[in-house]
Amino acid sequence: MTDDHSKIRELEHRNFRNDDFWKEIPGWSAVTRGEFADHKWQMKHSIRKVEQVRKILGSRLAEKDFNDILEGQKITPMNIRITPYIFALIDWENPLDDPLRKQFLPMASQFLPDHPMYLADSLSEDDDSPVPMLTHRYPDKVLFLPTTICPVYCSYCTRSRIIGGSTETIEKETYGANQKKWDDVFEYLLQHPMIEDVVISGGDAFMLTPAQIRYIGENLLKIPHIRRIRLATKGIAIFPQKILTDDAWFDAVKHIHKFGKAFGKQVVIHTHFSCSREITKWSQMAMDKIFQAGIIVRNQAVLQNGVNNHVDEMVLLTRQVGFLNIQPYYVYMHDMVPGCEHFRTTLREGVELEKAVRGTTAGFNTPTFVCDLPGGGGKRHVASYEYYDEENGISVWKAPHVKPGELFTYFDPIGKLSPEAQQRWGDEKIRKAMIDEAIKKAR
Ligand SMILES: *Cc1c(COP(=O)(O)O)cnc(C)c1O
Ligand code: SF4
Repeated sequence: MTDDHSKIRELEHRNFRNDDFWKEIPGWSAVTRGEFADHKWQMKHSIRKVEQVRKILGSRLAEKDFNDILEGQKITPMNIRITPYIFALIDWENPLDDPLRKQFLPMASQFLPDHPMYLADSLSEDDDSPVPMLTHRYPDKVLFLPTTICPVYCSYCTRSRIIGGSTETIEKETYGANQKKWDDVFEYLLQHPMIEDVVISGGDAFMLTPAQIRYIGENLLKIPHIRRIRLATKGIAIFPQKILTDDAWFDAVKHIHKFGKAFGKQVVIHTHFSCSREITKWSQMAMDKIFQAGIIVRNQAVLQNGVNNHVDEMVLLTRQVGFLNIQPYYVYMHDMVPGCEHFRTTLREGVELEKAVRGTTAGFNTPTFVCDLPGGGGKRHVASYEYYDEENGISVWKAPHVKPGELFTYFDPIGKLSPEAQQRWGDEKIRKAMIDEAIKKAR
């Protein structure tokens, strides 16, 4: 074992927090375990406005930290929405460094200027969209976005251009559930027999009603060539109480799972734990319930600076998620979207973490580290670039099946480059020459 690994205590990943941690929040000191477990209580008490943060925390939050959060709202492309569960798990003694606070309540002082090559729709989902709410990039699988609302809003959201309503910085065409538009999606899928696999994302499936889950699930599963559907929800990670106490919702998920099974089709859940601090006894209880229903759950995490870009944290997260019967599926390089430069890591970090994590647990419980290529090249293994100019943070990629003949570029965050390289990036002409040179080398 290397020194790095010996820092993780052997069985640490089996210790799940089970105290009444929310009682440390002044506004919730009298909330009982029963109330906290109630999904309706969680929804009702979700934080939707920055003023609520101060009200609920009272004097526990320093004025300067509150102002930092307040100012952050003027920069971030995402609105605030946090479940009490996640809010109470934040270490309010040290909010500056807290990985959960970073994800959901950004502070102005931590933002960096956007990378010059950022794109609002970094993955070109809109370009590859044949009908509204659908992206069809790969031959046999599609991405369906039936809603653009979520139970929490993540500061690092890749779809900040549409998710969660307009903010001070951007106007968005956020949409809720719309049955007519869904029918157009089903019609498109029916006409395209190559498609076997539908990712139902958004937005978040936690925000669909039981009737909508049934409607979408049944209509997709009735299409003869659709073999697999995945419900994407961050819910298990940030709102496990819904699995435990919203029987109507969970029954709808169980229903479409059974409905699929009767046709010999897979219905699974893809969830989104980012770091070990999100995992508690509540997560375990929710997962036990899902596992007993026979539904497979996989995890997709985003590599985030100061949240999970450390070997110990990534190994712990991987082991914990595996222990809960969730299969770690992907760890994504951060997309090049606005308001996220402070979250991004270098490709080198992704490659090194992949190396460090592999071998720490079962192979099928080891995530694949991928870069979803800006411009719509699709997901590629982090080490499969054609060329990497590490000094200037420029990697060049191919996507032979998705976009044959095209080259794609991904860029490391400027702030992590040498001062000389940062200067080069500051000059538009030099910048263009560096990128052209890297592309030439990759050919
Ligand atoms: C990620 C994604 C999928 C699913 O890809 P998997 O690698 O199978 O998880 C499908 N369509 C689009 C457009 C995607 O971005
Ligand atoms: S849950 Fe997903 S879609 Fe919703 S804000 Fe977070 S990252 Fe974006």
